[in-house]
Amino acid sequence: MNNPDEILDPELKLYEARKAVHPQRIDGTFRRLKWAIMIVTLAIYYITPWIRWDRGPYAPNQAVLVDLANRRFYMFGIEIWPHEFYYVAGLLVMAGIGLFLVTSAVGRAWCGYACPQTVWTDLFQHVDRFVDGDRNARMRMDKAPWTAKKTVRRLFKWGIYLFIAFWTGGAWIMYFADAPTLVVDFWTGEAAFVAYATVGILTATTFIFGGFMREQVCVYMCPWPRIQAAMMDEKSLQVTYKDWRGEKRGSIKKAQKDPAAFGDCVDCNQCVAVCPTGIDIREGPQIGCITCALCIDACDRVMGEVGRPRGLIDYITADDAEAEKAGKETGPAWKNLLRLRTLVYFGVWAGIGLAMLFALGNRTRLDLAVQHDRNPVYVQLSNGDIRNAYTAKIRNMENRPRQMNVSITGLPGATLWEGGTSRPDQQTALEVTVPADSVANLRLFIAAPETTSERDEFVMTIEGAGENAESDSEELFFERPKN
Ligand code: SF4
Ligand code: SF4
Repeated sequence: MNNPDEILDPELKLYEARKAVHPQRIDGTFRRLKWAIMIVTLAIYYITPWIRWDRGPYAPNQAVLVDLANRRFYMFGIEIWPHEFYYVAGLLVMAGIGLFLVTSAVGRAWCGYACPQTVWTDLFQHVDRFVDGDRNARMRMDKAPWTAKKTVRRLFKWGIYLFIAFWTGGAWIMYFADAPTLVVDFWTGEAAFVAYATVGILTATTFIFGGFMREQVCVYMCPWPRIQAAMMDEKSLQVTYKDWRGEKRGSIKKAQKDPAAFGDCVDCNQCVAVCPTGIDIREGPQIGCITCALCIDACDRVMGEVGRPRGLIDYITADDAEAEKAGKETGPAWKNLLRLRTLVYFGVWAGIGLAMLFALGNRTRLDLAVQHDRNPVYVQLSNGDIRNAYTAKIRNMENRPRQMNVSITGLPGATLWEGGTSRPDQQTALEVTVPADSVANLRLFIAAPETTSERDEFVMTIEGAGENAESDSEELFFERPKN
């Protein structure tokens, strides 16, 4: 048996401590795109709960609100009731398929630009730059001993982290209650315990994940980098170092002495210096690459400075990379976006979206659900007629009280009346007023003459009065004793 000491490198460690990543400032097309997406996504997140939307006196005026207490979800002009949750499920399915579509077309663009972990990490890295300076200054500061100056700076920086983290947690709870009211309640100690707990948890996770764990969340914790490979193929765009063009790498000085021996990479390490996850793209595709393309910006700038063609690091598909390596012509990158896989994803995504829009446009804002009493199933009245009892739930999903007409058809000689009122002589319809945005529970009685039929089918209908004359109906049974 081998002696473990003989086969194990004594230098090899089972656990390697994280090396802090200090990305360098860079400007370029993709950095500007990242700025734009960061500003838009953060603005949407922080501002949305403060947008007001007038729904009249009977509903909240917050544009986007998850009203858990009243079990409603408001999104601008759309109000979703619990029994319509399939719209939310549809949106989630669309988000999932949209992610498949984006990944199959442009690889991990979600990770590189729009994932919350990326956006907040980017924000915290800008804070680092603001407080401690660019890459070299931050590295010096990291290595410097803990003096009073370093301690004050660190406390200041962590204070900014905490401020951002707190507002991130604070903004989240605003989606679940009227934002201005909740702010007052929060600071006067009147808010619910769950509000404080949620802010506390989200503040802590944002502070730790964005401020300290950063790329480790992407590399070690997030399942998405492991799943996304299944959505990509040889026609998906990826950030790629063109080794066939860059190698053998060497400094300008060396290349000037012997141009034929060196490729275009001048080994300046700029692509590594700007990388927010601290990897070297020249080592090939790796899980730490979130395809943010900042290395493309850095390398393009270097290529411009040394007078070589841009695109040594570029968005390119595996197929085009093979073709380029073989010296063949490749078409424009966008042609890869239109292929069977992306078209199928887009078709499914658009189909679900259109179906949901159609359903939303045609949904009724009233609803009837009726339950027949099971015990007793029927009662014989003193005049010999048979009476059945029902519990009807009438939903008025509009933000105004509505008059509704409840009627029955298909039951000869029947009389309909509401519990708590006396039986009328002959009536097959009655009027009820259902308050705005609520459910009316009605106790309904129906009496009909005794016949030889044990069970008759009939229809109960509700109809909204006024300009919006929607209706809903349900088929029910009227039960009689066996003869
Ligand atoms: S930035 Fe470009 S030239 Fe510089 S090391 Fe990276 S790949 Fe080579
Ligand atoms: S290697 Fe390039 S694309 Fe990948 S994470 Fe680093 S900077 Fe972004």
